[in-house]
Amino acid sequence: MKCRNCGESLRDSAVIDKVEYYVCSSCGEVTEVDLNMKQLGFNILHRKESKGIHECYSSDFTIEGQSLLTTLVTKADGHRDFMGCFAKGWDKLNKHSLKQLLLQQPPETESGRSLIYVCPECADIGCGAYGCKISKVGQEYIWSQFAYENGYEEPQPIKEIGPFKFTATEYENVVNSALAL
Ligand SMILES: [Zn+2]
Ligand SMILES: [Zn+2]
Repeated sequence: MKCRNCGESLRDSAVIDKVEYYVCSSCGEVTEVDLNMKQLGFNILHRKESKGIHECYSSDFTIEGQSLLTTLVTKADGHRDFMGCFAKGWDKLNKHSLKQLLLQQPPETESGRSLIYVCPECADIGCGAYGCKISKVGQEYIWSQFAYENGYEEPQPIKEIGPFKFTATEYENVVNSALAL
């Protein structure tokens, strides 16, 4: 793991009450990793149709019952007109997202992030998207290093969110139900 502030590799950590604390040896930034399992779920995100705007039903993941999109746009201070990576009628996107989220295919972004929220009109990264790195360790999936990216500028990391750990079976169930929405 790397320091989110200066990029230095983090080595030493201490665990206090199921939270692991890393202190960066060059800049002193403290990175907390919550070792508690988080509850993943999803809500249906409805984009209402109006002039020049397509209606859309998509997946908004929830973590401990909190909308992930709301958390991201609040922390990034951005607009919230996004579509979840699983959306009704978007078969190609859905198949792609499934492979990404279950780690059956490497991400195609340069940063190595998988996209969780995309442009509701075209799903192209060029319009801006929120993504994170997904990994699996043992029977746990981990979402970390959330960022806003558009494929041509440096990704903008969203600090103070995650990493989140999910139990594999529960995670896979939620992803499959989001796919079937
Ligand atoms: Zn640092
Ligand atoms: Zn677009």
